[in-house]
Amino acid sequence: MKSLWSNKATKNLSGLELVVYTSRLIGADPNLVLWGGGNSSIKIEGKDHKGEPTRILWIKGSGSDMRTIAPKNFTPLRLDDLLPLMEREAMSDDEMVDYQLKSVLDPKRPKPSIETLLHAFLPPAHIYHTHADAICALSDTPSSKKIIQSVFGDSVGVVNYHRPGFQLSKAVGEIYKKNPTLTAIILDKHGLITWGNTAKAAYLKTIEMVTKAEAFAAKKARGKRPLGRLKQGALPQVQRRALAAEIAPILRGEIGENQSMVLRYEDDPALLKFIGSAKANKLTQIGPFTPDHLMHTKPWPLFVEIENPEDPIALAEAIRMGCARYRQGAVDYFEDYKPEGVTMLDPNPRVILIPGVGMFTSGKDPRAAGIVHDLYMHTFPVIEAASAIDRYRTIGVKDLCDFEYWPMENFKLSLLPAEKEFSRKIVLITGAAGGIGAAIAEAFIDTGACVVLSDIDLEKTAKLAETLNRKSGSQNAAALQMDVRNEKSVRQGFAQAARCFGGLDVFISNAGIARTASVEDLSPADWEDSLAVNATGHLLTSQAALRMMKAQGLGGSIVVVTTKNVLAPGKDFGAYSASKAAQTQLARIMAIENAPDGIRVNMVTPDGIFEGSGLWSKQIRKERAKAHNIRIKDVETFYAKRNLLQTPILGKDVAEAVLFLASERAAKTTGAILPVDGGLRDAFPR
Ligand code: ZN
Repeated sequence: MKSLWSNKATKNLSGLELVVYTSRLIGADPNLVLWGGGNSSIKIEGKDHKGEPTRILWIKGSGSDMRTIAPKNFTPLRLDDLLPLMEREAMSDDEMVDYQLKSVLDPKRPKPSIETLLHAFLPPAHIYHTHADAICALSDTPSSKKIIQSVFGDSVGVVNYHRPGFQLSKAVGEIYKKNPTLTAIILDKHGLITWGNTAKAAYLKTIEMVTKAEAFAAKKARGKRPLGRLKQGALPQVQRRALAAEIAPILRGEIGENQSMVLRYEDDPALLKFIGSAKANKLTQIGPFTPDHLMHTKPWPLFVEIENPEDPIALAEAIRMGCARYRQGAVDYFEDYKPEGVTMLDPNPRVILIPGVGMFTSGKDPRAAGIVHDLYMHTFPVIEAASAIDRYRTIGVKDLCDFEYWPMENFKLSLLPAEKEFSRKIVLITGAAGGIGAAIAEAFIDTGACVVLSDIDLEKTAKLAETLNRKSGSQNAAALQMDVRNEKSVRQGFAQAARCFGGLDVFISNAGIARTASVEDLSPADWEDSLAVNATGHLLTSQAALRMMKAQGLGGSIVVVTTKNVLAPGKDFGAYSASKAAQTQLARIMAIENAPDGIRVNMVTPDGIFEGSGLWSKQIRKERAKAHNIRIKDVETFYAKRNLLQTPILGKDVAEAVLFLASERAAKTTGAILPVDGGLRDAFPR
């Protein structure tokens, strides 16, 4: 591992600024620390609120990430308050946290890290704690102490596993006190602590140790096959991705009975090789390489046992059985090891490994599924390295359960903001690049949904997805190309959608075209085109949506954007009205046929939406002006004025109606039409 330290960048930095720089340097390397793991501190002379000099421990606050940490994420504590605690025998988490809070010098700062005392009890000025992969590969073995000594000699201390808190901090403080010449401490089955009189020295110590550990692991791995023979090779890319798309909704349904999840699929070749190896099943069931991870990953992944993954029916069955077995295992583990007074968490897996096919990770949104993904992408190489060095061993089951049900960690979860209405829901919109489609997409993103934007125009759709992600600060929008007229394109589009987020809860059939001509003059081509998009396109996409929803078995909601013309047709709109009437009638039949599966189908009938609409081309405006005997520039006002409320209809008005129908608020409504037209007497549904 190379040092990335820059003397130039740190020339004008001092104190906490330097700690921020160093923490970010460490946080930027996923081989050192991932997603909120690790922490850092500095001890400096400062002043308290009375202006009196005092020694201050600035420590990373709870809930921040080293990669993006800023000065505001650190909390100052009066060091002289904390040091006497070394003399105590024991302290409960609550006592310790209360005590720490009383020593905080700025109450507006975040809660100090649970490892605050560990930093306080080590005298050096700069302390860094990481979960470096290479260090954990040494410590996650039965003979870790011997191995660590053989690599680093006596200058590195090893502290037995304790859950973070008073006991661990005291153990660290004591080992240092006994041997002040130590240059670092390895927390067995957990991670690394380094220090220095300067931030640079502490950072370089981290790099030096990781480099040594990496070299040792590489030497040990030479000529060995710690994972055994390759039992199941990776299926060809096209085949495994097609399989992934087919089984994702089944898996999502299986694990989403209590709360829906978003999935992420990964088929990295190194990962596939690991999953396909003879010993992978056993090795993956040992535990996480550092306990911090299990809050995201759960203690163990689900390893799907399958002899012939290329058979989708057998694979689906293996997934169902695997999930059932996993849940039962989670219940047994909870019953056997649960600490006092806790309730059981969701028993479903967060990491699902399928030989030949790849890995799915799950979370409440793409970000959460991504965190689980990143953690496991570092877990399997640590398992392999530890297996080459010795054998892979983590903390025991009781300790895993104590960590998973640790009130301190679970308290953090309770501080998260409440989930939005469409959180955990996956929505697919056709014709998403148009005005109405974009407005609907934005409304769903605003309410927490994951949205697959599909359109024939990929460039425009991709741009929209990018804008929505930037605005929302999420990764909840994805774009794909789909031509609703073409069966193959629809099939591929839905497969891609399944790989994006894992399934489908809400389908918005919105793609449409409008061609105008009197029936007498209507060209067969315009007629065919209208039917192809508005009727056949709706049929093909709805079929694909229904199949995915049924594979998932979580019900669903379909909202069809039709038109006021279905209820009150206008002259010269023959092809449009007839094709949209076919769409509407199909939607009603879908409502009848799919109610037993908990799938609702409803319609909105907008009228005269101009904003961003692809429907209102110059040609259409000209023709509508002619049809209504008005000037072209008056077309928009004409449409606004002709409704009872005398108001223009906007994309967001349609989106509001679509959201309502798609939501649980409309749970008892199916087969219904909701007009969004400002009130048109002729178009009242009946
Ligand atoms: Zn840690």
